[in-house]
Amino acid sequence: MQAEAPSSDDRLARLRALRDLHRMLLARGVPVRGSEQLAQSMALLFRDCLTNRNDKRRVPRAAELAHRLYDQAEQHASPGAPLACKAGCDYCCHAFVSLLAPEAFLLAEKVSQRDGEGADAMVETFKRRAQALRGLDQAARLARDGLPCPLLEEHLCTVHPSRPLSCRKHASFSVEPCMAAFGGEDALIPANTEYLTLGTTCSVTLRAALASVAYSTALYELSEAVSTILDTENALQRWTEGEDVLAHVQTDTTTPARFAPVITALVSAIA
Ligand code: SF4
Repeated sequence: MQAEAPSSDDRLARLRALRDLHRMLLARGVPVRGSEQLAQSMALLFRDCLTNRNDKRRVPRAAELAHRLYDQAEQHASPGAPLACKAGCDYCCHAFVSLLAPEAFLLAEKVSQRDGEGADAMVETFKRRAQALRGLDQAARLARDGLPCPLLEEHLCTVHPSRPLSCRKHASFSVEPCMAAFGGEDALIPANTEYLTLGTTCSVTLRAALASVAYSTALYELSEAVSTILDTENALQRWTEGEDVLAHVQTDTTTPARFAPVITALVSAIA
């Protein structure tokens, strides 16, 4: 016998219950030990942001919202041991850094907001870096001479409050494995699992929201994605209207597949 489709009233009641949790999420951030319902509520929060037609910045704002939820939760997380990460340590800024489209649009916005010369110089750096790194995997990248992220200046992240989730969630307990990995060795970096979980929850729920409105859920390579946006006229408007202006950008092909079933379940829960 076929299952009965939920009525429109049931659907509205389910979405209302999820929206009732938004205030709590906005106050406390990502739940460290979250339930399925909280993950669904987060996905709906992101979708509401992405579909707010009154907000011209709704796409980069969705990235800011994800960063806010992550940062609030991180304040209450307990690393368990002192972290080795500190200002000036930039080994991980030489790796393949991936990000979601809203995060790439947010970074492009930050670059464009620099004063005239600063913006022009940064756009050129992005173009050169994207060309040099195009198609290289992690090992080839490091062998290439360890070109850093274009947003790194004098060993510091110039967009720290707007850095992607993948930068936020990677926190190491020991610098030696980071140095070894940067040197091309196959080193296991002892990462803080709580931060990784928080970042992954934000990323997966934001990807579910993107999927639910038929936007790309790909994890793009940072340099090429931001460079493409800066180099494409009206990139944000065209992307929101359905043109995949990031179609040729290199993506992380392993992580998205791993979370595909969770994303499918979240999309159906907020339908
Ligand atoms: S965005 Fe900032 S933290 Fe992330 S790789 Fe680039 S410089 Fe490093």
